[in-house]
Amino acid sequence: MPELPEVETTRCGIDPHVTDKCFAQVVVRQPRLRWPIPANLPELLTGQRVEAVSRRAKYLLFKLPTGTLMIHLGMSGSLRMVAAGTEPGAHDHVDFQLSGGKMLRYTDPRRFGAILWMQGEAFEHELLKNLGPEPLSETFGGEYLHGLSGQRKVPVKSFIMDGHVVVGVGNIYANEALFRAGIHPKRAAGRISLSRYQRLAKEIKETLAEAIASGGTTLKDFVGGDGKPGYFKQSLQVYGRGGLPCVICGEKLKEIRLGQRSTVFCSRCQR
Ligand SMILES: [Zn+2]
Repeated sequence: MPELPEVETTRCGIDPHVTDKCFAQVVVRQPRLRWPIPANLPELLTGQRVEAVSRRAKYLLFKLPTGTLMIHLGMSGSLRMVAAGTEPGAHDHVDFQLSGGKMLRYTDPRRFGAILWMQGEAFEHELLKNLGPEPLSETFGGEYLHGLSGQRKVPVKSFIMDGHVVVGVGNIYANEALFRAGIHPKRAAGRISLSRYQRLAKEIKETLAEAIASGGTTLKDFVGGDGKPGYFKQSLQVYGRGGLPCVICGEKLKEIRLGQRSTVFCSRCQR
């Protein structure tokens, strides 16, 4: 599943090819994604210039003079630049032909992604307006997490993966950040000190920043004809390593299900 770092890398990869270009033609071959693509999307976009490509949580936001095109990659979606006239494959559902000869192509085998239109400010959209802060923003930090945790009994791992608390901390990054901070994933959110939350916030930021930085090397995938955005080969210390020795103490890592998600931790290093 594309996580926040993959979405941010996609944004960086397509931005120079899309910003300041106009939509010359929009072809929708399959409108049935997670929600139907608006039937009038081609009319809404054609002729409009892209002023900026930004991101909020895992939504890519294409700012146009009359509103915002919002794209979510869902479970298996990808966006890449192809030459105009490139033959579509079975899962290439939407083509955005741009002025200047390049085409932005949306591919999504499982069709859990979304392509939506928002008149006016995208931040006021139903899907975006109640989201927590961006993890890499100044707003997000240990004091923020500690202040919000109050008396909450929810496990800290579920707490930091809740999009109302903070966006974009996917399962991989929650596992890694908790290990690096030495915090047990099942510890109640309300029973963690400010200093431990400061450490956790720092580790969340660093884990995500490292993934984004390592994604920079895959940028060519977004402009190539056949490239798929690859998952980042970030070195992971716990995720996917259940049963293997802890890199710090050598204890066998435990793997449990927490909120239906695979959770790996060291019972000696994480308290
Ligand atoms: Zn350990």
